[in-house]
Amino acid sequence: MSTAGDIVLRGGTVVAMDPARTVAPLDVRLSGGRIAAIGAALPSDGATVVDVRGLHVLPGFVQGHTHLGQALLRGLAEGRDLLRWLRERVWPLEAAHDDESAYCSGMLGAVDCLSSGTTTIQDIGIVTHMDAIFRAIADSGLRAIAGKCLMDEGHGVPPGLAQPTAVALDEVRAQHATWHGAADGRISLLLCPRFILSCSAALWRGVVTLAHELALPVHTHLLEHPNEEPEVVALLGKGQLELLDELGVLDTRLSIAHGVQFDARHAERLAGRGLGIVHCPSANLKLGSGIADLGYLASVPGVRLGIGCDGAPCNNDMDVLEEMRLAALLQGIKAGPGRFASERALALGTIDGARAIGLEHEVGSLEVGKRADVVVLDLDRPGSFGGTQVSVYDRIIYGTARDAVVHVFVDGVPRVQHGALIGLALPELLARARRACDALVQRAGLAGVA
Ligand SMILES: [Zn+2]
Repeated sequence: MSTAGDIVLRGGTVVAMDPARTVAPLDVRLSGGRIAAIGAALPSDGATVVDVRGLHVLPGFVQGHTHLGQALLRGLAEGRDLLRWLRERVWPLEAAHDDESAYCSGMLGAVDCLSSGTTTIQDIGIVTHMDAIFRAIADSGLRAIAGKCLMDEGHGVPPGLAQPTAVALDEVRAQHATWHGAADGRISLLLCPRFILSCSAALWRGVVTLAHELALPVHTHLLEHPNEEPEVVALLGKGQLELLDELGVLDTRLSIAHGVQFDARHAERLAGRGLGIVHCPSANLKLGSGIADLGYLASVPGVRLGIGCDGAPCNNDMDVLEEMRLAALLQGIKAGPGRFASERALALGTIDGARAIGLEHEVGSLEVGKRADVVVLDLDRPGSFGGTQVSVYDRIIYGTARDAVVHVFVDGVPRVQHGALIGLALPELLARARRACDALVQRAGLAGVA
C-alpha cells in the first residue's frame, strides 16, 4: 500500500475552494491519505514538514473527461472535424492498440495530467487492452473513474472496435471484479458507451442494466459537433437526448462530455433529473464543434458543470490550467467580458468538476476529511504577478500553466516534488512510448500517410 507518512505543508496560502471560498495563510496536515487538519501554525509532531512559504496550496485538479488511451495518438489526427477525425484516424489507431501501446499511452497520459496538477480524472478508455490502461493508472498514482470504451456498431467503426454486445458488457463485469476499488481505492469503474453513432440500442440497454446492478456512473460523448445530430436523426429518427431518455440512460448517474449543442429543448427533457456536463473547450475549438454557453448551461436546473482536456489528439495537452483559462476567455465572447468569473473557472477544475462526476464528498476542495489530493502552485513569477489587491483567482486562471506546478500529492503521496515527477524515469518512459507509437502506426496501416 502506497501510504505516505504524515506531511505538514507549512506557511503557504491556502486557496481552499470550500463553501466559504477560504483564501488564507494556513498550514495543511495530510495523514492516512486524508486532509487531517487545516489551521494556523499546526504542530508538526511526527510529520515531514514541507516548506511552502510564498506558494499557494490548492485542491488537486479534477478533469471530468479524458482519454489516457489516446495519449500516444497526439498529432496523428490533425486537421479534421469530429466524425472524420474519428473514422479516418482515431478509430483505426485505437483498433491497433496492443498491451504495450496501451500501457505506454496510459502512463504518458497520466504523467501529463499529474505534472500539470490534475489528481483525479474521469476517463473513457479503449475497447481492447483496457487492463493495460488500468495498470498504468495504478502505477502512476493518479485517481481515476475509468472504464473500457463500449462500441458495438456504426458507420466507419473498424471490425476490431465493434465488439459483440454481450462480449463488451461481459468485459465490463470482469474489469469491475478486478479493478473497482483497486490501487488503494484510487480506481473506480465507469460505464463508457462511446456515443450514439457507435452503440446499438441493445448496448445502451445493457449499460443501463449494469449501471443499476453495479451502482456505476455512466459517461458518454453527447451533443458535441453540429454534424452529429443530423446524422443521428437521419439514421434513428430521433435526437440524441430523446434517444437516451427512451433507453433509460437519463435515469442513471449520467455525465456527458461537451454538450456544446445543448439547448432549451434538451433542458426541458432533463426536467427533474441531474446531468453532469463536462466542458472541453480546446477539443471543441480544434474539431470545429463550437463554443458551449457556460452561463446558460449553469442556469439549467440539474446541470452540474465540470471541465476536461479530452484526448491528446484533439487538444493537444492535458494541462487543465490552460483549459480553465480558455473556458473563462471564451465566455468573454459568448456572454461578455467578466460574465464568467475566474473563480467560477477554477471551480470547474476543482469543486464543481468533482460534483459533475459525483466525487464532491471526496475531492475538489481542501476540507478536513477529504482525500489528501493537493497541488501547490508558484504564483510568485512575472507571468502571474499581482499586487495585494489583485484576485488570486485571476492570477491563477489568467496567469498560470503547468510550469507553475511545484508539488502534487494524491492520497497524501507526493507524485511531483519541486516540479519533478517522483518515482518515474521520464526519459525511459518517453523512449518506450516512442517505440510503441511507431509500432502502433505501422499496425494501423498509417505509416507514411499524411
Ligand atoms: Zn472525448
